Amino acid sequence: MSEIVDCSQWGAAAQPPDMRCEVLVIGSGCGGATAARVLAQAGRRVIVLEEGGDFVGPGRLTQRDLAMYDQVYADRGGRTTACRSISVLSGRVLGGGGVINACDVVPIADETWATWRKYFGIDAFSASDIAAATQRALTDLSANPIAEEQVNKNNQILRRGSQALGWRGELMRHNRVDCKGLGSCLIGCPVGAKRNPRMVSIPLALQAGAQILTRARAEQIRDVRGRQKTVTVRCLDAKGYREGATFRVIADVVILAAGPVGTTTILKTSGLGSAALGRFVSLQPQIPITAVMPEVVNAFDGIPQAYAVTEFERHDDQRGLTGFRIEPIFGTPGVIGSLVSEPGAAGKALMAQLPHFAAALLLLPDEPLAQIRRNWRQQLRIEYQFTEDYRSRARQAIQAAARVYLQAGAQVVAVPTCPALTIRSERDLAQIDKISLDPATLPLISAHQQGGARMGPDAETSVCDLDGRVRGGRDIFVMDTSVFPTTSSSHTMAPVITMAHLLAGRLAAHWPQTAS
Ligand SMILES: Cc1cc2nc3c(=O)[nH]c(=O)nc-3n(C[C@H](O)[C@H](O)[C@H](O)COP(=O)(O)OP(=O)(O)OC[C@H]3O[C@@H](n4cnc5c(N)ncnc54)[C@H](O)[C@@H]3O)c2cc1C
Ligand code: SF4
Repeated sequence: MSEIVDCSQWGAAAQPPDMRCEVLVIGSGCGGATAARVLAQAGRRVIVLEEGGDFVGPGRLTQRDLAMYDQVYADRGGRTTACRSISVLSGRVLGGGGVINACDVVPIADETWATWRKYFGIDAFSASDIAAATQRALTDLSANPIAEEQVNKNNQILRRGSQALGWRGELMRHNRVDCKGLGSCLIGCPVGAKRNPRMVSIPLALQAGAQILTRARAEQIRDVRGRQKTVTVRCLDAKGYREGATFRVIADVVILAAGPVGTTTILKTSGLGSAALGRFVSLQPQIPITAVMPEVVNAFDGIPQAYAVTEFERHDDQRGLTGFRIEPIFGTPGVIGSLVSEPGAAGKALMAQLPHFAAALLLLPDEPLAQIRRNWRQQLRIEYQFTEDYRSRARQAIQAAARVYLQAGAQVVAVPTCPALTIRSERDLAQIDKISLDPATLPLISAHQQGGARMGPDAETSVCDLDGRVRGGRDIFVMDTSVFPTTSSSHTMAPVITMAHLLAGRLAAHWPQTAS
């Protein structure tokens, strides 16, 4: 079995040796780990580069907000859109987003595949290929229904209120096994209960001979049209703060799986990609909402997200998934403190009631209209446009969530707008229509970035062909959420694992023709 090599051992003065492989995978998250494992098991010599560190083992995922956001999130959890309206969260750790996500398993719906086929020309996968890849993803995740005894008070309250209103909802599937209900999923599971890429595909890839390099950031692909590509790699120090030595990896095939921001950045730096590169990005901005209940909720205790209100989720033939869903959520006190509606003393008084808080996220699929760019100083800019459709669904979603909590007996429902909005009875609901959703007036959260290197048959509107191959390069592929033409699902982990199985499986099967 190969080992994980920590590149932080090489400081600025070191000269690490160049490396050679058949397949270089950039990014070890849900897409990258799956692709690496499929190709290593098919007998290819695989190297994986991961910018983050490895956080498996005793005392590494510590349940401490500050240390964990600093170490396992991209830009230390501080990445935002250019307008500062949306916090753009993604993992930066061996195993990627799977290490820090909420474990909800929702595959790509048949209706979404139908929309992609009809309006986006994604007709390269047969129904049986899709079914088999979806099943592989569910098996990788050990997907299983959340048991009734695992539904904590926070989730029970949402279910109670929505069922009293007669609204449809469901207990979700998740990828936890032997979960101890510690509740810190969003900053990593300290007892290894998540069947995420770090626990499943990475060990399998290692077993099949893949080599994995951590604290290794891919910077540029050179010789993009050559049989052999050279990728320049920058070593980072143990905490990922400072840059160290550089070295090169020479590969026949390069697979980008660095997430929409990482993948777009590398392709731009390498002079690859059509005019569509960095465009057609969905962020799925989610709205946090808090309620103060008469009873003690202790929402930080147990699985954060177990029950979803699905009453308002819709499939639009042309646009795909739309509407909204309501899902409970909770975080550590530091995170909740940053989301309460009131500032100063009023906020402090609100936080004193933390054990009585119930909280939810309102999840709204959006149109893929965001763009990932670099400004003239080469700094990252994520530009977002709020459509009238998004604003109107956002107000409907806030209304619906406020009604659920009032129905469940909430004393106060707090919407963290600026200025703050506090709802105490049905009479106050009309105020929601006045929420402007102007830039930076609501702390929106994006956990499901998709697009940027979209796949499709048309070179004008897509970056990759239907095999995931980047146009204009030779044997350079994308296998992460960047390839999705519109939002794939309300939750993107199972979809991207499915897509990686489809694309990497095809590459493995057609290897001699593609990379020769
Ligand atoms: C807080 C949070 C909660 C979520 N909850 C859920 C959920 O409950 N259910 C669900 O289905 N989905 C959830 N998601 C989304 C899901 O985790 C992601 O969609 C999924 O991880 C995306 O997979 P990926 O392979 O595209 O990218 P990622 O998993 O993000 O992996 C990309 C990897 O590439 C690395 N990288 C970036 N640039 C470079 C570079 N230049 N060189 C080397 N490495 C690089 C990054 O460090 C990262 O590890 C959540 C996400 C977040 C952030
Ligand atoms: S609830 Fe706790 S034990 Fe269960 S997966 Fe999340 S962090 Fe791990």
